[in-house]
Amino acid sequence: MQRNEIIDFLKNRVELFRGFDTARLEQLLDGSRATTFEQSEAVIEFGSRGHFLGVLLDGELSVSVVDDEGIRRELGRIEAGRIFGEMALMTGDRTMADVVCLVRCEVLLIPDAVFMATVMTTPDAVMQLSRLLTDRAKQVAYDQNRRGLADRAEVQDADPHGFALQSRRPHLLLVVNCGSSSLKYSLFDTDRPADRAEGIVERIGDDARHRTGGETVSVSCATHEEAFHLMVADLIAKKRIRSAADITAVGHRVVHGGEQFSAAAVIDDAVAGQIGELTALAPLHNPVNLKGIELARAAFPAAVHVAVFDTTFHHTLPPYAYLYGLPYRYYEKRGVRRYGFHGTSHAYVSLRAAQFLKRPYNSLEIVTCHLGSGASVCAVDHGRSVDTSMGFTPTAGLLMGTRSGDVDPGALAFIAQQDNLDGAALDSLVNRRSGLLGISGISNDMRELEAAAANGEHRALLAIKTFCYTLRKYIGAYVAAMQGIDAVVFTGGIGENSAGVRYLACQGLACMGIAIDEAKNKEACGRAEPVDISAADSRVKVLVVPTDESLMIARDTLQAVEREMARTDGMGQAKIPLEVSAHHVHLSAAHVALLFGEGHRLTPVSELSQPGQFACAEKVDLIGPKGTVKNVRVLGPDRAETQVEISMTEQFKLGIHPPIRESGDLAGTPGLRLAGPAGTVELDKGVICAMRHIHMSPHDALTMGLRDRYVVRVVVEGDRELVFGDVMVRVSPAYRLAMHIDTDEANAAGIGGDAVGHIESIQSRA
Ligand code: AMP
Repeated sequence: MQRNEIIDFLKNRVELFRGFDTARLEQLLDGSRATTFEQSEAVIEFGSRGHFLGVLLDGELSVSVVDDEGIRRELGRIEAGRIFGEMALMTGDRTMADVVCLVRCEVLLIPDAVFMATVMTTPDAVMQLSRLLTDRAKQVAYDQNRRGLADRAEVQDADPHGFALQSRRPHLLLVVNCGSSSLKYSLFDTDRPADRAEGIVERIGDDARHRTGGETVSVSCATHEEAFHLMVADLIAKKRIRSAADITAVGHRVVHGGEQFSAAAVIDDAVAGQIGELTALAPLHNPVNLKGIELARAAFPAAVHVAVFDTTFHHTLPPYAYLYGLPYRYYEKRGVRRYGFHGTSHAYVSLRAAQFLKRPYNSLEIVTCHLGSGASVCAVDHGRSVDTSMGFTPTAGLLMGTRSGDVDPGALAFIAQQDNLDGAALDSLVNRRSGLLGISGISNDMRELEAAAANGEHRALLAIKTFCYTLRKYIGAYVAAMQGIDAVVFTGGIGENSAGVRYLACQGLACMGIAIDEAKNKEACGRAEPVDISAADSRVKVLVVPTDESLMIARDTLQAVEREMARTDGMGQAKIPLEVSAHHVHLSAAHVALLFGEGHRLTPVSELSQPGQFACAEKVDLIGPKGTVKNVRVLGPDRAETQVEISMTEQFKLGIHPPIRESGDLAGTPGLRLAGPAGTVELDKGVICAMRHIHMSPHDALTMGLRDRYVVRVVVEGDRELVFGDVMVRVSPAYRLAMHIDTDEANAAGIGGDAVGHIESIQSRA
């Protein structure tokens, strides 16, 4: 079709564009592409990300999916004049079907950015799309079935976690890591993300040097401000930018985000102020990070600046994992608790591991070992950090190059008294003179220690052994913390390069299903891509995954920038009613029969707020190893698998310890006994504490700029404002807008029946 024919076609044949004037359609066509596909060719493949809206100009398309039995089922047909691809485009989900040409087809492909700029800014079109989205979504089997499909789509996606930096608009993203005497930088072009420019200015103020593009040169650089000039000059010399004004966004690594920051934050004066206030918790790092932010805001005034914190990934630690056995007031008044660090690296390598293993991220139990000059271990349970070895400071956990790691606090008090050390001297002892250096007396560098140990230096060997033994204990502890394990991941200078450390750390863990293949392990050093080093019979995958904190910061920065765009477009202000979910049970049909008698049908007594769901007259008792919770209501209709949702306090009463999970995600959860009038059922799994969640329709999601499975923060209005982090968004046409929280939480926060909340920010995108 010619251009004017396409314009006529869009105006007269495509419902979505009826209200568009010619100028707007011209604008739309300028950024779009009309193209031809042959018979049987796929226009969209199952599992791909939605990057365009399609309009069928001529021909006919078939929409189909392969079911669990491997049989292809046709879901429907698309005729000329219809649009397609809108689901994936608007929900952010991967495409859940194949769209294939039945005959030769002519198609108009409207890219994401053009779609956002033209269609999504037209209120009538947004209304139409949301109606269409609701109708289409109903055709796809939702909820339980959809989860399986979404998981399959995730693992087939070449870039499930956004590391290809695909964005609605092109960006030049600068990642800045400002240390006490260094400035490290990386520049990413979202059009060519693999081709980044990097450099570091080191020893600022003292014999400075600039390393970039494989070269190191001595430079005159007395201050961080001068280092910024060197960086900009370098990027201009490399023709990556024409001037500082080309940079559209800057991602800043910030060490400490305290309890305030549960996500990357767009920096304004208030955020900069808060980062400054956190200096009390990170006196060595936050001031210099803040200095970098101030210099960058002056150097790149038009760019969006984003702080990406080392601590945010660990925001999901439960209180029993982050509290110390100190008087509670130290936590309340002084913020003394475990925060954890290296979060960017733990998040990155765990995501990469899931991608490498072709498994859904939220289904895995992973222990990540970041072993560099600083070292920490993290338990990543279904995509959430639930424990980590660093604590209030980065000194805790594993012994490191010069940091002690865990030491009996009584021993430190003893040393301080004996040697008359004040706080600063003690701090210096445990941070600068301990760890590998302290034990070996030779070096803090693992390479040098390995060489010394090979030469028979007894204390070098002892330092390595102590390091690996501590690491092995942490791995074992985190298997216990997560009650299972699918993968162990090694990263960081030591983790990526020392086969000896990996071998010693995993030695004897075959009892947990962890075994490495020594030949593969030896070969796995210094690679750019993840490597599987597990033995053939190892139940658990052992991987070496090179970390890339700059890329992770770039990804988080890009996501924060896009969120900010959505926010300034006025999205996200809808009021969300809060509902308190009391404990309840969903039963499978087989369990209904066992508990209430063969042939028994559940008796609905009242509708629940979510359409199709109802509370039943039936109740069951929950019997745990320690105690019983009586008369827990059954909710209908019945489900494929029995699921019991209890509150936090009931855990103690029952004597079981279920994880926080999404509804339906029951792998590895504990069981208990259910007792009904006709009999009992012994569950071997199925008990969860439900993750906070918001139910919403596709239309709600669209107008709030959210997508299914986003994790958000919600502000609840009231006498005092409360912020709930870690709230999972679930989108389905069957849902009515409501946020569900646990009874205990509602009681603790004094939330009554008519409370409402609104979205404060998006924490992450699953
Ligand atoms: P990072 O802080 O991640 O750069 O890691 C630094 C640590 O990695 C130092 O202890 C190095 O000695 C160690 N490292 C680097 N390469 C190797 C290697 N080939 N074998 C053993 N350790 C290494």
